[in-house]
Amino acid sequence: MPGLERRLKAELTGDVRFDPFTRGRYATDASHYQITPVGVVVPRTIEEADRAIAIARAEKVTVLPRGGGTSQCGQTVGPSLVVDCSKYLNRILDLDVAGRRVAVEPGIVLDDLNRQLKKHGLWYPVDISTASRATIGGMAGNNSCGGRSLRYGTMRDNVVAIDAILANGTKAHFGRIGRAEDAPEAIRPLARDLLAIGARDMVMKTWPSTATLYRGARLADAAGAGLQVTVNPARTPDSLVVNGKITNTASSAREIPRLRVALRDDHNAEVASQVIDPPRNSLAPGATTAFSTVFKNPDSAATGVAVTFAAQ
Ligand SMILES: Cc1cc2nc3c(=O)[nH]c(=O)nc-3n(C[C@H](O)[C@H](O)[C@H](O)COP(=O)(O)OP(=O)(O)OC[C@H]3O[C@@H](n4cnc5c(N)ncnc54)[C@H](O)[C@@H]3O)c2cc1C
Repeated sequence: MPGLERRLKAELTGDVRFDPFTRGRYATDASHYQITPVGVVVPRTIEEADRAIAIARAEKVTVLPRGGGTSQCGQTVGPSLVVDCSKYLNRILDLDVAGRRVAVEPGIVLDDLNRQLKKHGLWYPVDISTASRATIGGMAGNNSCGGRSLRYGTMRDNVVAIDAILANGTKAHFGRIGRAEDAPEAIRPLARDLLAIGARDMVMKTWPSTATLYRGARLADAAGAGLQVTVNPARTPDSLVVNGKITNTASSAREIPRLRVALRDDHNAEVASQVIDPPRNSLAPGATTAFSTVFKNPDSAATGVAVTFAAQ
């Protein structure tokens, strides 16, 4: 028996399976990929999961956590030691009804969690369609979203913190931080890298999200009939830049009125606005012109953009 399997069986009370049948079962998820894992471990406790990761590290085998295995892009298949959290690591650890927070083990299935929350008048609102199978750990891993995510957000909006065991054995606490210096020392370099990626990459620069933008954006009105406006807001660390384009969709030249650019909150109430001069006075049929304006330190409640034409 190879070292990895022998050590896992000797040191863990959870299931350890290296037989071809089990490895075949875990070679698939809801994607069309198939990769046979090295073996499967089903830890009974978080400490056992930690131990399994440590043994895999010592034996130089990669690990692959798995919940319900409903991923559609092959996230849970690979030539690794699969750590299945769904069988035993499925308890609620702490429930704060007044604060509407719950701490869970990663393998709890969404429907099971909601069944237990229901009697307290609560529910976990990331209502994915695989709710009867998907686990909170897998949902967090995929940043899952549900049919009502426009209202309630995705996983990243509904997770306060994650206690994780990194592949190198580091015990990491991930939560909201403003600066890398605020992160626990063990993950400070990682936090620094993640914040740098956030400041640099399109994901953070595209603000607000497309969905919110659609909801919040009113892009033409009577004053601007025949003028089509599109906007592409971009976020920097301390400002929101609203870039946009105006296209004349009429069959004759159009005057361009002054533009009113407003930031709106979740209830469509205005939290800030600017009136700006048009980039050009008139536009030929089919012609397009660009505009841009900057909101310094925008109100954090602002989640939508509305562009209308101010009366002349
Ligand atoms: C028919 C169908 C409908 C779907 N509908 C939706 C939908 O409405 N919305 C949606 O967002 N998705 C949907 N999905 C995709 C999928 O169901 C979700 O992403 C689901 O949240 C995955 O949960 P899971 O427990 O099956 O995770 P898994 O597939 O087991 O794992 C997902 C990822 O998380 C990682 N992971 C799992 N557990 C842990 C852990 N303990 N620690 C660290 N990482 C972990 C895995 O390695 C993997 O990368 C659908 C899939 C199918 C097949």
